[in-house]
Amino acid sequence: MGKALIIGAGGVASVAIHKCVQNSEVFEEICIASRTKSKCDALKAKLDGGKTKITTAQVDADNVDELIALINEIKPDIVMNLALPYQDLTIMDACLATKTNYMDTANYEPEDTAKFEYKWQWDYRERFEKAGITALLGSGFDPGVTGVFSAYALKHYFDEIEYIDILDCNGGDHGYPFATNFNPEINIREVSANGRYWENGEWIETKPMEIKRGYNFSEVGEKEMYLLYHEELESLVQNMPGLKRIRFFMTFGPSYLMHLKALENVGMTSIEPIEYEGKQIIPLQFLKAILPDPASLGPRTVGKTNIGCIFKGKKDGQDKTYYIYNVCDHQECYKEVGSQAVSYTTGVPAMIGAAMVMTGKWNKPGVFNIEEFNPDPFMEELNKWGLPWVEDFNPVLVDALPEEAKKPELVR
Ligand code: NDP
Repeated sequence: MGKALIIGAGGVASVAIHKCVQNSEVFEEICIASRTKSKCDALKAKLDGGKTKITTAQVDADNVDELIALINEIKPDIVMNLALPYQDLTIMDACLATKTNYMDTANYEPEDTAKFEYKWQWDYRERFEKAGITALLGSGFDPGVTGVFSAYALKHYFDEIEYIDILDCNGGDHGYPFATNFNPEINIREVSANGRYWENGEWIETKPMEIKRGYNFSEVGEKEMYLLYHEELESLVQNMPGLKRIRFFMTFGPSYLMHLKALENVGMTSIEPIEYEGKQIIPLQFLKAILPDPASLGPRTVGKTNIGCIFKGKKDGQDKTYYIYNVCDHQECYKEVGSQAVSYTTGVPAMIGAAMVMTGKWNKPGVFNIEEFNPDPFMEELNKWGLPWVEDFNPVLVDALPEEAKKPELVR
């Protein structure tokens, strides 16, 4: 069918590449390009020999000219951006210059401030439309599958969705007192930022980890989860008509929270540069260098993830609730692709999103968040490629009364 240029060779890219190779009917050829070429070569060495032709290249994705030269050489049908959020705009610029489709799994982030905003990428809408190419934003799990679940719920079960709670539970245990499951810098920026949710037309800001709820997750059990801001809230607020409230919760264990608090208290999570022995260093980047590499967690992580969305709204004038989620087993993922479930649940939808664009199922010109496309073919592929979903039409709600969110229970 076609050719993909994959930028990045980290945890998420590794899973996506395994899955592209499994889906060789669509991915006849892939080029793996990243800053450190040896990582691309290692993936090629592991996966070569199947039907998908694999090449590798070195690229600095902060450099638009280098990217343009590489895209012109490879001539891919799509560029899969699985590097870091800092590279989104340079890669989009190169896609525009070469009229090549684009996809990613995280919104653009300036290096010096944690913003989690789509505005920079939404500014490319007209230019992508005029160039006749598609940009698919946020094709991981959250953002990604959570947006597809929302579009699917609206299309098949509701006339109007009024409340969405996204629940991201990682019941996995890697045995370390503190480690992050994906890029530590991005992860810590996300969880140390203020919380935020949207209700009745306005954003309500909370202190980091201020709102806590307990929830009994299927196949994982009882966990404590905390309200965070997460980037898909911004696009879902725009794309779900009639929405009254949307929140995002993620589970964290006590050891993770205790270490994070201590690191924060001593300034290790700061993204403000400091001078050390005549050199400018960013404390959070230094911390990343000493924490376990997320890729090394695969063999040691046991347990399951459960990520999904609870919807509440109206169908034919009646109140209706609907919960849809995926459960993923860390060790099963490791057996299949050599990575734990957090990389797996992101890498699989990255492959599926790219396949949707390459096969022409999702190819309208412009810049789109994932919930703006027809969810049905993507939902079918989730079942096929290792992320089956479960539906519950009578779920336990996060809190019985929507008003409860206005009286947050403070974390002690
Ligand atoms: P990693 O840190 O494991 O991998 C990042 C890769 O990008 C590395 O191979 C790195 O190269 C490469 N890279 C970084 N900078 C450049 C550059 N300037 N030029 C070329 N290559 C570069 O991260 P993850 O795989 O954990 O995460 C990848 C993306 O997925 C992130 O954007 C993250 O936010 C997103 N994500 C999305 C989720 C979702 O559900 N939507 C969930 C989890 C992650 P090098 O090896 O040299 O460092």
